[in-house]
Amino acid sequence: MKKILITGGAGFIGSHLCERLLNEGNEVICLDNFFTGSKRNILHLMDNPYFEVVRHDVTMPYFIEVDEIYNLACPASPIHYQYNPIKTIKTSVMGAINMLGLAKRINGKILQASTSEVYGDPLIHPQTEDYWGNVNPIGLRSCYDEGKRCAESLFVNYHQKNSVNIKIARIFNTYGPHMNINDGRVVSNFIVQALKNEDITIYGTGEQTRSFQFVSDLIEGFIQLMNTDDTVHYPVNLGNPIEFSMLELAKEVIDLTNSKSKITHLPLPQDDPIQRKPNIDLAKKVLDNWEPKVKLRDGLTQTIEYFKTVI
Ligand code: NAD
Ligand code: UDP
Repeated sequence: MKKILITGGAGFIGSHLCERLLNEGNEVICLDNFFTGSKRNILHLMDNPYFEVVRHDVTMPYFIEVDEIYNLACPASPIHYQYNPIKTIKTSVMGAINMLGLAKRINGKILQASTSEVYGDPLIHPQTEDYWGNVNPIGLRSCYDEGKRCAESLFVNYHQKNSVNIKIARIFNTYGPHMNINDGRVVSNFIVQALKNEDITIYGTGEQTRSFQFVSDLIEGFIQLMNTDDTVHYPVNLGNPIEFSMLELAKEVIDLTNSKSKITHLPLPQDDPIQRKPNIDLAKKVLDNWEPKVKLRDGLTQTIEYFKTVI
């Protein structure tokens, strides 16, 4: 049994990670300030005596003895990370410093939930880990993108200067049950709109693309990455390389929900990336036979069932 700290554990991805690690027989401490996460996401875990919840903000130091830390604390949707951009930067940067300091002190392993946003609006396609990105450093998305880029730099430097055992997952668009209904991300927006027979809001032409990964595939990748040997100290893309346009996604959601919704077009937000698709060769090489298994249709079906219980 390992003792594992998950920051942001009450959020969408964090709650699935808590569940999986508890099911594997570990002791899990979920740290969260409940900015975008909720107790509802972890309610079903509360009776487990090996599960603890701590209300805490990662911008403040936190001390505990654990074997592993998964650092997920950070709002992930554009609406939420742009709500208080300075706080978003503090969460990424000071959160990384506090959690890396903890990992150094306890000689523990630490995994950072980084993002495909470090590639910005990418000029190479698909994106490989050696691509440095095309990020507007002062744009609307910069609080998130630059915060996460700075966190990656901190992780690599704590490894190089202080020998901290670090792992960095660059996560591409992930979806599934427990997504926040109000967070404005495309999958949750389209499903909720379709279930309510409201207009499906496509920003821009809808020809921009994303690659959608179901949450269980990401969780498997996370755990395998944490368990890689001591030579893996560089960023690894975790995403599903099958690419869809937002128009294709909207049609799939309308079809699966038998919705009467019509498509409507709204302006494209500033600096919205035109395309995004991971190259996952590195993940396939360093992980144990990992690649995404859940097809978009199957993952959407599970997510739709979840949202039916929430609406
Ligand atoms: P989420 O918003 O559901 O979860 C983030 C969690 O962090 C929430 O529970 C929130 O309350 C908590 N949190 C925020 N600020 C905090 C703070 N200062 N102190 C303590 N807790 C705080 O988002 P998610 O989709 O589950 O994302 C989890 C992580 O994965 C984030 O770091 C995000 O950047 C990263 N990520 C997610 C995606 C995706 O598609 N979902 C893609 C790339 C990266
Ligand atoms: N999007 C959309 N309609 C919505 C919400 C988002 O067309 O109601 C688009 C958005 O402009 C972007 C894509 O869907 O091109 C993915 O947006 P999301 O916020 O989910 O993730 P990110 O842009 O961070 O990849």
